[in-house]
Amino acid sequence: LEDELRHSQKMEAVGRLAGGVAHDFNNLLTIVTGSVHLIRSLPPGDTSLGSYVDEIQGAVDRATALTRQLLAFSRKQPSRPEILDLNEIVTGLASLLRRLLGNRVTIHTDLATEPVRVRADRGHLEQILMNLAVNARDAMPNGGTVTIATAPDIANQFARLTVSDTGTGMSDEVKAKIFEPFFTTKEIGKGTGLGLATVHGIVQQAGGGIEVTSTLGTGTTFAIRLPWCSTPPPPPSGTLTPLAPLSA
Ligand code: ADP
Repeated sequence: LEDELRHSQKMEAVGRLAGGVAHDFNNLLTIVTGSVHLIRSLPPGDTSLGSYVDEIQGAVDRATALTRQLLAFSRKQPSRPEILDLNEIVTGLASLLRRLLGNRVTIHTDLATEPVRVRADRGHLEQILMNLAVNARDAMPNGGTVTIATAPDIANQFARLTVSDTGTGMSDEVKAKIFEPFFTTKEIGKGTGLGLATVHGIVQQAGGGIEVTSTLGTGTTFAIRLPWCSTPPPPPSGTLTPLAPLSA
């Protein structure tokens, strides 16, 4: 009976996930189709073309984020750890994040002046950043500021990545459940409940940790700790390293 119950709960969760994803995708496809339709009916030289193209770009960005999320959760993406600088991950993702978060959200970055190196999979790091940033946006329906910071904690050999928002914050009851797969307070089609479960899985696997501080009505901070890597990455293969001059 226990097994049967667990199985039916699992099936319900899978059904909810599939339904949510199908709903999300359908919405995004509707936006793309609608914009394409409008573009086709525009008289030549019409100036609203740009805004329809932006709509399409926005929908495609969200669809990309959604598929990355699902792939990361199902761990179909092979993990390819390399030595990476968190500062470079943040700046590399900045334009995608800006589009994903929209113009009511200000993105503020506060990066360490030195590289903050970790040994991790690039896709995983991007996933962490994207999931935290999208959650921050959703917690600020009337807009606000997301602050993304990096810092080395050399004493403890940790690299730190922090994402803070000026949003709604969360109650202790919600906070206790946020890392559970499928836990979401968002309406159907808006959330899968997989974002933080994925972040948690990645950070755990990397030997790091997550700290959450949240105050209702003020905002939330997610601080990710990852094992710090002191050595710079090797030069890219194929590049010749100049030989040291021979000493006599
Ligand atoms: P989803 O975003 O699909 O709901 P997540 O696992 O990413 O799934 O988040 C689970 C829940 O945690 C959210 O539904 C929300 O209630 C809460 N949450 C996550 N991030 C924040 C945040 N920055 N501020 C307030 N609540 C948050």
